[in-house]
Amino acid sequence: MNLNAGIPSGPLDKKWEKHRFEMKLVNPANKRKFKILMVGTGLAGASAAASMGELGYNVSAFCFQDSPRRAHSIAAQGGINAAKNYQNDGDSVHRLFYDTIKGGDFRAREANVHRLAEISVKIIDHCVALGVPFAREYGGLLANRSFGGAQVSRTFYARGQTGQQLLLGAYSALMRQVDAGTVTLHPRHEMLELIVIEGRARGIVTRDLVTGKIESHLGDAVCLATGGYGNVMFLATYAKGSNATAIWRAHKKGAGFGNPCFTQIHPTCIPVSGDHQSKLTLMSESLRNDGRIWVPKTKGDTRAPNQIPDAERDYYLERKYPSFGNLAPRDVASRAAKQVCDDGRGVGPGGLGVYLDFGDAIRRLGEDAIREKYGNLFDMYERITDENPYRVPMRIYPATHYTMGGLWVDYNLMSTIPGLHVLGEANFSDHGANRLGASALMQGLADGYFVLPYTIGNYLASTKLEKVDGDHPDVRRAESVVSERTKRLLSVRGKRTVLSIHRELGQLMWEHCGMARNRAGLEQGLAKIPALRQEFWKNVNVLGDGLELNQALEQAGRVADFLELGELMCRDALEREESCGGHFREEYQTEDGEALRNDEKFCHVAVWEHRGEDSAPIRHQELLSFENVHLTARSYK
Ligand SMILES: Cc1cc2nc3c(=O)[nH]c(=O)nc-3n(C[C@H](O)[C@H](O)[C@H](O)COP(=O)(O)OP(=O)(O)OC[C@H]3O[C@@H](n4cnc5c(N)ncnc54)[C@H](O)[C@@H]3O)c2cc1C
Repeated sequence: MNLNAGIPSGPLDKKWEKHRFEMKLVNPANKRKFKILMVGTGLAGASAAASMGELGYNVSAFCFQDSPRRAHSIAAQGGINAAKNYQNDGDSVHRLFYDTIKGGDFRAREANVHRLAEISVKIIDHCVALGVPFAREYGGLLANRSFGGAQVSRTFYARGQTGQQLLLGAYSALMRQVDAGTVTLHPRHEMLELIVIEGRARGIVTRDLVTGKIESHLGDAVCLATGGYGNVMFLATYAKGSNATAIWRAHKKGAGFGNPCFTQIHPTCIPVSGDHQSKLTLMSESLRNDGRIWVPKTKGDTRAPNQIPDAERDYYLERKYPSFGNLAPRDVASRAAKQVCDDGRGVGPGGLGVYLDFGDAIRRLGEDAIREKYGNLFDMYERITDENPYRVPMRIYPATHYTMGGLWVDYNLMSTIPGLHVLGEANFSDHGANRLGASALMQGLADGYFVLPYTIGNYLASTKLEKVDGDHPDVRRAESVVSERTKRLLSVRGKRTVLSIHRELGQLMWEHCGMARNRAGLEQGLAKIPALRQEFWKNVNVLGDGLELNQALEQAGRVADFLELGELMCRDALEREESCGGHFREEYQTEDGEALRNDEKFCHVAVWEHRGEDSAPIRHQELLSFENVHLTARSYK
């Protein structure tokens, strides 16, 4: 497996500029001759499709929802980072770069992260030009707030609806191209197979989710912007439809999978309230700008929060991490919440909760100021819990939220399959072992608006691509794989619902490969998941037909893929014998319970190669070198 990242030579802050100059260009008159397939129209995919359409390429864009406006990106609440230094508080491109590298526990590529920090400033200008209504200060300038892992305010936001507003901006740009005829939209189409011809990605097989029709789409390059795979855990903050199918099928066709075990557990979600739930709800990290996190100092203290005096509260993040306080990064804050709950000091039903308290902020700033900043989040909390967070502290607990792992890509966002580009949360990304808040939107839009539109031209201009047609045996083979699989799913007619198996998988993943992992637990997971997979293929019950709208069938296909991916995640977590970022192996921790890295053995990206259903995958490494920052023990104290 070729894992040459293709990092340009030269000084860190000149690499991207130099690379853009050195890349080959496609003549404007030739661009329309190239057909690009873009799977996914969330923030990453919509921004890329719109930008490539604007450049003149002929783009076909696919999503499984009825409109790109419904992508999971719409849920993003808190904001998007950019090193604008509008606050004059010491921010810079270099500081954003450093915070992100450190936030990811030194498991991301320096060159990629620096490029991301450079581009961040352009994203804001671009989105403003598209009409995104970012929050403004009284004088009309764009406002900022703080997010975890940073000591500056660099997060741009649109109340608690930043993702929605950004997505509407990208969607408008996309629809302009649809109108101009450069982009053709295929909503309600799910990619179920990648077509690889002579070693290059040349097409996809989709199922029309309304009619069930299976068809191929061919092109000169394929791009996947299909989002993250955290729903493998069943209970997560993701939109219910988010799934791994596109990247998993590409992985099985030869695309290396980078760091599959790097999962982000977000510290501030509404706690699980019973086994009736099918998803969890995030309370944005932005709330930690003003909310203070605490638990009672004494175990088993069941008094109502307002009965517990200040002196008997443990503001444990402020105590343990005085310089970052409540804005400690997510992995650190999640583990700290788990520790106090494991210690018997958790609050709410089952003791799996901590308080996020706005009492002080309301006294200091007034209720109206808090409502203006976070009103929609407070309303959402109240609707779900029936508790008024202006009066009583919110109860929160960590939950699965984001996957840093994904398909491995080089500096040009190309996977190990030539022609297959991966962007947004679907790639193994620039976040290393832990993503800082407000950095996913930044990365997705950097990839979509500013990186891929350049690098894809380089690929197309430097590659000789023969014409392929629908009768090619590889196309026919890919179509029959999809038809056979559909038939197989429909023919089991067992006794268990897809939902019950997915829920069981989620419980296994959370228990064995969740917030804390250890060898024995991971080995158990590796024994139980294949058994559950067998049970699925023997006993799942998918009703209905393939040639109709059939959501049970859609879900069954996605869960079948999760059952394979879950195993790879456990395998990856087992092999990485260190703790870093969100990957916390209990055997490797400091005396204070912090993650203990092993740079000598694990300063690399683990990239997995699929070897067929009956063979173990192979683990490759892309070594990471740090020339501009020192590898230090990460501290937020
Ligand atoms: C509640 C919540 C709040 C968040 N808040 C923030 C925040 O404040 N700041 C921040 O930076 N990040 C935030 N994030 C993370 C961020 O929203 C996501 O990482 C990001 O939006 C992912 O964008 P994407 O374009 O990569 O993927 P998505 O938005 O997930 O889009 C995936 C697209 O792929 C399509 N697709 C998937 N599979 C297929 C297939 N097989 N065939 C066809 N189409 C397919 C889908 O239809 C969709 O169009 C938040 C996440 C959540 C859950």
